[in-house]
Amino acid sequence: MKFGGTSVEDAKAFRSVAEIVRSAVALRPVVVVSAIGGFTNVLLASVQKAIAGDARAATKSLDNDLGRHLTVARELLNGDSRVAFETTLAEARREIRQLHKIIAAHPVTHPPLQDEIVAYGEQLSSQLLALVLRENGAAARYVDACRCVKTDDNYGSAAPLPETANATRATLVPLLESAKVPVMGGFIGSTEKGVTTTLGRGGSDYSAAIIGAALDAREIQIWTDVTGVLTADPRIVPSAKTIPVLSYQEAAELAYFGAKILHPKTIQPAIDCRVPVRVCNSHSPSEEGTLIVAESEATAQTIKAIAHKSGITTVQVTSARMLGAYGFLRALFEVFDLHRTAVDVVTTSEVSVSLSIDDASALPELVPDLEQLGAVEVEENRAIISIVGEGLRTTPGIASRVFSVISHINVSMISVGASSVNLTFMVDEAAAADAIRRLHFVCFERQDMAEAGVEMLAEEALA
Ligand code: ASP
Ligand code: MG
Repeated sequence: MKFGGTSVEDAKAFRSVAEIVRSAVALRPVVVVSAIGGFTNVLLASVQKAIAGDARAATKSLDNDLGRHLTVARELLNGDSRVAFETTLAEARREIRQLHKIIAAHPVTHPPLQDEIVAYGEQLSSQLLALVLRENGAAARYVDACRCVKTDDNYGSAAPLPETANATRATLVPLLESAKVPVMGGFIGSTEKGVTTTLGRGGSDYSAAIIGAALDAREIQIWTDVTGVLTADPRIVPSAKTIPVLSYQEAAELAYFGAKILHPKTIQPAIDCRVPVRVCNSHSPSEEGTLIVAESEATAQTIKAIAHKSGITTVQVTSARMLGAYGFLRALFEVFDLHRTAVDVVTTSEVSVSLSIDDASALPELVPDLEQLGAVEVEENRAIISIVGEGLRTTPGIASRVFSVISHINVSMISVGASSVNLTFMVDEAAAADAIRRLHFVCFERQDMAEAGVEMLAEEALA
């Protein structure tokens, strides 16, 4: 059970987590927790202050968030455990103070020291959560994540090493066998020499997947502040619903669109061991959330989600040189490579190629290089819409259903079949919300309405 920063942002949130964990004790959970909401950013910023030479300001900038831990402890802990945590907190501040001083004096040494400082976020939240759980009657035990997650020394985005699996089992299995609930920080690990490392931003999900895979868990639960993965962005479609089951592949396609979903790299360890991942809402724990599994069934309507991303720029390169020639695409991609610009969607015809980019900051330098290859046309303020669902490639009639709903909207760069689970196209940013609402209505709402005998209303709503 992994709890993100928003699930432990204050005393109320800690209390809900304690409740959720307590009701799952019979399933022998391992708890992995992020730093309290926002603290990682503050810790990282403090390192910058130290690098700039002001160690005192660096440490002082943490006091507000250290105080938040104290507030939780004062509200939820009694007697000895409260005193113990206050001591832990004071020690942490002292140690961080020393590290800030070292960085201020020798800024070049900072990568390992930065990880050591940032790791306090997860170390403190996990120690606090373990105490809160014990106060609530669960047999929780704090476990130093560095004993389980062994990594290389690529500070700031360290990669876990194979021995992690054994170290994790050796540390956690005896606790689980004696009915204890291990509680550990996500995001952090240590090198073979025992130096603290971090796995990269958002790394607690990754930790949860690594630990779940090592233990061959029945399920990895990612507890966050939304109920699973939704059929569309709820800011555009307020009636968006939770998707009950997704395949790993569908989830990976959706991840690009920044749907509040897991980064594909994050769940790779779960995929490798075929451990299902469930995305749950700690603010609404009784809802089922979304279960992500190796293979999900195609549903009756095939389409499971409509994802989108605005602020996209498309670039079209047209050249007669492309006709029947080889090496053109390589030359084209080399330009993007040179300017370190990631390309997302690509469509080609015999004499032109259209590409979409998310980050257009290199365009002023990119375009002249592309012009060496052909005529270049740039369109800004575009949006990618992607329809995701297992079986899309093999189900007849999907494209006609999708495009007939939005026949009044100009669509370009249609891409289908590159993966078996998605159909992607580009529209003008200004038309995206309308397109998404119509598609959502037809894919997910009309059926329900028709079943409820309100077909007429449904047609009206669409009109
Ligand atoms: N606390 C870390 C971060 O904010 C890790 C995580 O929350 O997953 O990146
Ligand atoms: Mg997070």
